[in-house]
Amino acid sequence: MEINLVSDTVTKPTPDMLRYMFQAAVGDDVYKQDPTVNALEAKVAALFGKEAAMFFPSGTMANQTAIKLHTQPGEQLIADKWAHVFNYEGGGASFNSGVSCCLLDGDRGMINAEQVASAINPPEFYHSPLTSLVCVENTTNKGGGACYDINELARIKQVCAAHNLKFHLDGARLWNALVVTRENPKVYGQLFDTISVCLSKGLGAPIGSLLVADQETINRALRIRKILGGGMRQVGYLAAAGIYALDHHVARLADDHRRAKELGALLETLHWVEKVEPVETNILIFSLKAGLKEHQLVAALKERNIAISSMGHGKLRIVTHLDYKEVMHDYVREILSKISVRV
Ligand SMILES: *Cc1c(COP(=O)(O)O)cnc(C)c1O
Repeated sequence: MEINLVSDTVTKPTPDMLRYMFQAAVGDDVYKQDPTVNALEAKVAALFGKEAAMFFPSGTMANQTAIKLHTQPGEQLIADKWAHVFNYEGGGASFNSGVSCCLLDGDRGMINAEQVASAINPPEFYHSPLTSLVCVENTTNKGGGACYDINELARIKQVCAAHNLKFHLDGARLWNALVVTRENPKVYGQLFDTISVCLSKGLGAPIGSLLVADQETINRALRIRKILGGGMRQVGYLAAAGIYALDHHVARLADDHRRAKELGALLETLHWVEKVEPVETNILIFSLKAGLKEHQLVAALKERNIAISSMGHGKLRIVTHLDYKEVMHDYVREILSKISVRV
């Protein structure tokens, strides 16, 4: 039994998902003639109460398209210092859009309205880059799966509206936030100009993300996706995986959250653990007591067929997901309780 808790992207399509994929009706999506892609896009747009959505091969491409849509070269976006769009998209904001990032010192990857307001460059002060976009992440990745308070997002939206800024949500794990908060996705649709969502994380699809927006914005996104090389052909087989995942794998995210919380509670009782960050969804970040090396714990668990990741700076990360079953959970808890970690 190999147990991979490194990321929620390691899941494989279930047999039922694969069967559903194989029976998909397909066509050439570059001509918008793939009925399954069209159905997925309509489904996700409707979910958020937006006019349109577009299928992308990756969340990175969906986010980068959003940045390109909302900015001109030389301008600046505002984001948390841990933001995926800044840290983990290969420098795409500067490469694709020629924009700089004003990074805020948020709380577990979450920024607030006051921070955003004070980071905006006055438009008449032409010496500084023009601020044109605010990006937030929900749930936060490097912030350990933290969920925004929807009221804070509404306050940031007000700041954006007052300063004529666009507002983008990197919702790679928005599904997790929606399951925890039981919020209506349409509220998110109203707050944001664009939302990206991933199908290939906790939902268990092998690939795929969508960008949701109004029709005019999606029309422009079509050209940008083409430029980025994201125009795909009979991709309905992959869109079918997304439809299946949305229909069958959203509510069960609550199991991932419960297991992550149970692991967090267990780690808190162990003498070699220094601190467990709050566990809100499926990501668990913890640190070891001074003198202990993360790579030693990673190696000791690896010997017992459990993979977790080191984040550096004394921190480790566990991510629960669709392929992390209850029997595995029992085994991981047993190993964690018994493992001897020496100072
Ligand atoms: C995974 C992720 C993305 C997109 O990643 P891809 O691997 O390109 O699909 C974007 N934002 C966040 C916060 C993520 O965790």
